[in-house]
Amino acid sequence: MSSKAYVENILNSLEEMSPGQNEFYQAAEEVLLSLIPLLDEDSRYEEENILERIIVPERSIIFRICWIDDNGKVQTNFGYRVQFNSAIGPYKGGLRFHPTVNLGIMKFLGFEQIFKNALTGLQIGGAKGGSNFDPKGKSDKEIMKFCQAFMSELYKHIGKHKDVPAGDIGVGAREIGYMFGKYKKLTGEFDGILTGKGLNWGGSRVRKEATGYGSVYFAENFLNKYEKSLKGKRCAVSGSGNVAIYTIEKLYDFGAIPISCSDSKGTIYQKDGINLKALKAIKEIHHASLEEYADVDCECIYTPVSSYPEGGHAVWHLECDVAFPSATQNELTLIDAKALHANGCILVNEGANMPTTHDAIAYIKKHDILFAPGKAANAGGVATSQLEMSQNAGMSQWSFVEVDEKLQGIMHNIFKTAYETSVEFKCEGDLVTGANIAGFRKVADSMIEQGAV
Ligand code: NAP
Repeated sequence: MSSKAYVENILNSLEEMSPGQNEFYQAAEEVLLSLIPLLDEDSRYEEENILERIIVPERSIIFRICWIDDNGKVQTNFGYRVQFNSAIGPYKGGLRFHPTVNLGIMKFLGFEQIFKNALTGLQIGGAKGGSNFDPKGKSDKEIMKFCQAFMSELYKHIGKHKDVPAGDIGVGAREIGYMFGKYKKLTGEFDGILTGKGLNWGGSRVRKEATGYGSVYFAENFLNKYEKSLKGKRCAVSGSGNVAIYTIEKLYDFGAIPISCSDSKGTIYQKDGINLKALKAIKEIHHASLEEYADVDCECIYTPVSSYPEGGHAVWHLECDVAFPSATQNELTLIDAKALHANGCILVNEGANMPTTHDAIAYIKKHDILFAPGKAANAGGVATSQLEMSQNAGMSQWSFVEVDEKLQGIMHNIFKTAYETSVEFKCEGDLVTGANIAGFRKVADSMIEQGAV
């Protein structure tokens, strides 16, 4: 059977096995199709049934979470932990609290995480978890009660050599703190079982900034390869959470102009650059909507979601040189890609996980816009989480400069690995193929070496 037919068979059976899990199927399709050149030249992966094995999580845990709200009512949510692949190390991957969370979303994120973690060059397997709990509008006390209830089940399945979750959408320092406290109470152990911890109790410097900073380091490496740089470039950034904020901060350090940010209600455009201090106050301290930003800074233009172009997102219709999608999956569609091209964008650098739809990626590639896939460009967060685990194991804490230098080195190496792999497979600069093959090869070879388990 040809490699193409082999992959198509697997994808057909995957669709039957996972009905309704559209995002998971989308992620698997992107990875598996890009592996064809590797499968053509190495028959071991088909002989060992690696594709059949790698698309099935080693373990999916689904549990009930009951907690009591401020009105004394019992609330119920779903909890998930998908431990996808441990071939190269203990499971590692974030926790997402968002009403859209379901098993398909968890599997898509866990699957992506396998290859992302392999690309970092560190020994970490892939996992993801979370809940359909919506933190919006909840009091601090309710957030604490929910986090404690979530951990009262999750603690049975994690461990410093087993599975070490971190944050993701809706899970930041506050939530990690509440979950860590509950773990300690339940087990009596002070263990590095979560990353993104507070600096006073085992956290790492730069972890908070790492995904955004890493995304910008990756973009600079990519542009430098083509004798360009971020300096002076107008950068459209979406999102206004952890990744977006620290992308904007680092873009200023590189002399770029971050002209936008967005949230689930609308988009801010500010020609001369986003007011970072105001943005941090609104999002990190008040946990409020960007509508408030327009009140603080009257130089900006605010576009509510109701005025977005049909099937698209206002942020990608701004004139920009580089796009940093940093909010959520499928937030950059075909009509957005066309607008970016028309406005002269030269690079799309994914800070979020799978923010660009398949047809938009195809359009971007066809029109020679550079494209940095999330599993390479946003790997700085998980890489720094692993540095946090190293510091915990050595009972030490490194300086900001030391961690930041390591992060820069890791992002450089991820770029180099993805780029060199694209050259090896005769598609120079196609980092989707380069990153997928490089990540897959490391995990698949380890699976073969460890036998059928
Ligand atoms: P976050 O701090 O919770 O921020 C998420 C941002 O995205 C918020 O501005 C949110 O707006 C917006 N958003 C979420 N869902 C949306 C939707 N359906 N439509 C429009 N906007 C939406 O999360 P984050 O940590 O920055 O994560 C952002 C992305 O980066 C995710 O794809 C995540 O998986 C990925 N990522 C994160 C890390 C990390 O270390 N945190 C590492 C690698 C990848 P509202 O505030 O209005 O909800």
